[in-house]
Amino acid sequence: MIEDVNHHELSDIARFIHDIRPDIPWHVFRLLPEHHMKESFYPNINRMDRALETSRKLLPYIYFHNFVGSRWVNTQCPNCGNTVIKRFSLGCSGDRLDEFLAPDNTCPECGTAIPILGTRVAWNEKQFVSWEAVS
Ligand SMILES: [Zn+2]
Repeated sequence: MIEDVNHHELSDIARFIHDIRPDIPWHVFRLLPEHHMKESFYPNINRMDRALETSRKLLPYIYFHNFVGSRWVNTQCPNCGNTVIKRFSLGCSGDRLDEFLAPDNTCPECGTAIPILGTRVAWNEKQFVSWEAVS
């Protein structure tokens, strides 16, 4: 997403994904203008957060990347707002899964089913351990 370039498309994209299936996660990347766009300002996190409010209502598992300071880099329970997936942003290098906080795919705070597929894999576990070692 680039503020003032394609942020007006967010609602249409969210509606398109929602019509396929509302629980599809959507990873929204805040692109920082560089190279041919050096004259542009960096996207404002608070304004982009607000621009995504409508999308968040359609897609409860939306999460952001490169939105430092936004709680939406994590995945929240759509019922109570409890963090169910915690991520650590590595800037433009991506995000790392830090913690999966919904054992049995259920929010521990309110019991809402969290439709997550997959399991934690060894490479992620290693990164998690090394992160713990340096902090
Ligand atoms: Zn909950």
